[in-house]
Amino acid sequence: MSEDQNNNNNNNNNNNNGNNNNKNNDTTFEEICYMCRRPESKAGKLIHIPNNICICNDCMQKTFDTINKSGNPYFDMMNMNPSFLNMVNQQDIPERQKVKKKQPQEDKKEQSEDVLKIDRLPPPHVIKASLDEFVIGQEQAKKVMSVAVYNHYKRVTKEKDEEVEIEKSNMLMIGPTGSGKTYLVRVLAKILNVPLAITDATSLTEAGYIGDDVESVLSKLLAAADNDVERAERGIVFIDEIDKIAKKRNTNSRDVSGESVQQGLLKLLEGSEVEVPVGASSKNAMVPMTTINTTNILFICGGAFPDLDTIIKTRLNQKSSIGFDADLRDKYDNDPNLLQKVTVEDLREYGMIPEFLGRLPVVYTLQELTKEMYIKILKEPKNAILKQYKKLLAMDEVDLLFEDRALEVIAEKAIEKKTGARALRAIIEDFMIDIMFEIPKDETIGRVTITGDYIEHKGAPIIELRSGGKHKLIAQNS
Ligand code: ADP
Repeated sequence: MSEDQNNNNNNNNNNNNGNNNNKNNDTTFEEICYMCRRPESKAGKLIHIPNNICICNDCMQKTFDTINKSGNPYFDMMNMNPSFLNMVNQQDIPERQKVKKKQPQEDKKEQSEDVLKIDRLPPPHVIKASLDEFVIGQEQAKKVMSVAVYNHYKRVTKEKDEEVEIEKSNMLMIGPTGSGKTYLVRVLAKILNVPLAITDATSLTEAGYIGDDVESVLSKLLAAADNDVERAERGIVFIDEIDKIAKKRNTNSRDVSGESVQQGLLKLLEGSEVEVPVGASSKNAMVPMTTINTTNILFICGGAFPDLDTIIKTRLNQKSSIGFDADLRDKYDNDPNLLQKVTVEDLREYGMIPEFLGRLPVVYTLQELTKEMYIKILKEPKNAILKQYKKLLAMDEVDLLFEDRALEVIAEKAIEKKTGARALRAIIEDFMIDIMFEIPKDETIGRVTITGDYIEHKGAPIIELRSGGKHKLIAQNS
């Protein structure tokens, strides 16, 4: 069969399939060789055969070589029953494993309006102001991040032929759990409108061991960019729990989930061409592969680094215990800003390898949340939890108010849980469930005030009727 005939066949076939096959006809996605699973950009022009099957030249040649061998039973099978090809179908390749085509250079210029451009890049103070709308406190972290991100995307959008090579601004964020590390990155990606992949360093292992390879991080980013390689190459990857891959001390066995993972991440952080499985977290014969260049991907690593303060304290004490100006040994014991004094040496002592730290030039810390910050988190951000509940009850034309004491009690309870601001939602949901269940039952209710006593299980909320009278207790907080 000539190639023209092939194409004709394919066209007919497409017509037959009609509209129900629109997704497969989408020209923005590359076709994939049915046999070796390589996309057209890698395998060369694909040959179309009936049933929407595409095969690359190499695989077609191999198939002919095989069936030409005399005595091959498949040869007879093909002659007798060509419809066996119906058994397999291009649709078997899941949508998520298809890679978006790279744009030709000319089209790229036309469309450059939608992507990050140097003159459209928000300056640091604008990025910070947008972060302020969602994230309470963490002023220093927000400032450092805004500048680093601005510089990073300047570097991405600059013309290639300039003399000075700007280095990547990958970041290392150190802060207690629930202090807003992941949240900051999420908001940042939203502001910049770039794809974001969030991953956990604990799930990564050295290639060949049970767990995800480091490349899986890029597969997630590619999925977040709708399999558009170009968008993914400007995205952000957030690797959480990075302290969990610190070098294990006193171990005789191979450290496959610690030091080796740090080693594996080096090439991604630095910028290199990486073969990535599309639509899966591990490489195998049935998964198509694509190449992603990580040079312009911004990597942000975050971790709580428990006990890092002990290392910092020991170093500071050592320095200050010698000579005439020797300080008291407990000088740093209650220092709330101890974590901010972290140095690269402390992180090395913690178990991060120097090459890894060298590729994360921007290091900053997040504060432990205070009671005042918890209260602000409850009511101030654009999508604050209290605002959300108020909105829900406003739809039933009921006013929801919180006494200041109530907010203090919620904050105190959250501090006790030691899981950061994450605890707030769970605490609020616990007592709001009765309110949300009972209030819509009674149309005469116009206002509900949540009191401190109600949250402490000592009293009831104040219910006011639309007519102005007070209502008996209806919501029983069990
Ligand atoms: P972690 O530091 O462990 O990554 P997260 O960023 O996941 O913590 O925070 C958990 C949740 O707590 C977030 O989804 C966010 O709603 C809230 N939160 C944490 N810190 C802040 C903050 N500083 N301002 C506003 N909300 C916050």
